[in-house]
Amino acid sequence: MSDAVKYLLDETHLPKRWYNLMADLPSPPPPVLHPGTLKPIGPDDLAPLFPMSLIMQEVSTEREIDIPEPVRNIYRQWRPSPLFRARRLEHALQTPARIYYKYEGVSPAGSHKPNTAVAQAFYNKEAGVTRITTETGAGQWGSSLALAGSIFGIEIQIFMVRISYDQKPYRRAFMETFGARCIASPSMETSFGRQVLAASPQSPGSLGIAISEAVEVAAGRDDTKYALGSVLNHVLLHQTVIGQEAIAQMDLANDYPDIVIGCTGGGSNFAGIAFPFIGAQLRGGKKVRVIAVEPAACPSLTRGQYAYDFGDTGHMTPLARMYTLGSTFIPPGFHAGGLRYHGMAPLVSHIKELGLIEARAYHQIACFDAGVFFARQEGIVPAPEANHAVKAAIDEAVLCKEHGAAKTILFNLSGHGHFDMQAYQDYFDGKLSDQSYDERELAMALAGLPSVPA
Ligand SMILES: *Cc1c(COP(=O)(O)O)cnc(C)c1O
Repeated sequence: MSDAVKYLLDETHLPKRWYNLMADLPSPPPPVLHPGTLKPIGPDDLAPLFPMSLIMQEVSTEREIDIPEPVRNIYRQWRPSPLFRARRLEHALQTPARIYYKYEGVSPAGSHKPNTAVAQAFYNKEAGVTRITTETGAGQWGSSLALAGSIFGIEIQIFMVRISYDQKPYRRAFMETFGARCIASPSMETSFGRQVLAASPQSPGSLGIAISEAVEVAAGRDDTKYALGSVLNHVLLHQTVIGQEAIAQMDLANDYPDIVIGCTGGGSNFAGIAFPFIGAQLRGGKKVRVIAVEPAACPSLTRGQYAYDFGDTGHMTPLARMYTLGSTFIPPGFHAGGLRYHGMAPLVSHIKELGLIEARAYHQIACFDAGVFFARQEGIVPAPEANHAVKAAIDEAVLCKEHGAAKTILFNLSGHGHFDMQAYQDYFDGKLSDQSYDERELAMALAGLPSVPA
């Protein structure tokens, strides 16, 4: 049994700026389009939903953007987050690889999401916003925004996907502890929710539906804005504190990754760990293999189409070019709720097109196998989403063993699984199955993609 090895930075190493990958890309991503005119949108088109400061970050091409001091002061509660060398895992795998993981489960909400929730709440407060609406799937984003809302004194209204609302009462209690209001989606509170319920009264809901409800409320009120927990450029930007810290910590370890791995739902924690390394590579630094890992039951990057699509089911959002399964696609039920989104961040999609990253998909049972194995070596129970990254890291380490290659592997452990013990219990009881999406439904959802002239 070897000892735990942890690389800690002191507070003076808390990043002062977010890193914007846009500045280093060889070509910009395609423009975001207005759904009516199909013309590129401008900042004003987004003004009903977001404060201007966040819109300017959304379109920024500056390499570095200052992190406001009040945001850094809150980050200090859990940042810099630790980087661990997985010595016991390496030993158990008998691999010559060196495995490191950045642990984001140390935040008060248990995942990376407060990195952007705190920033978004800050800018909304600064703009005089009194209320923010949002959606949540598994509950991690809602928990993070509820926390941030209570810090800045902003009312938070959360549309929670119905199936999670019923299955995860503790997540709801967590959000309510911070004073947020949680509504099962589809709901009777919005016209889109009522429309969905009229057509399908038993609807389990989906992220796409919940987004439409939250956007509808925000668009209809002057005092209310909307916040999204992933996908958008400014969200990915805020998460780059993860990778910047990791670079400094790998330096402390006197090492540098050959392979960087993150799980991908909308792409934000993946971007957080990977973009600073990809940026360093694009500026002439060492080349890294970067792997995005997604669920086989909702495989936007590996099975989706790179096309213009809506971000929501109700078609209220602008059109972004991204890897998508179609905005009407409803993934089958599986336990990594944070990965059940039909699209992928446009910026992550774009760098996939540029060949800067790889993608792969795993079924859930293999991911739980990996997560439980990891927990028994490293003493941390990963979130079901993070198990996808764990699985890929283990697979790469096993390949290193087969090839006698002493590679350095870094992955992001995006959160802990303490609210997901029912999923682990189902796994232990043999109740999990590997869900496949319906190929016909996928074909239908893709056939329904909006047509946008090239
Ligand atoms: C929300 C969530 C994800 C997926 O979202 P991304 O934006 O792709 O990072 C992954 N892991 C955890 C722990 C999450 O809460």
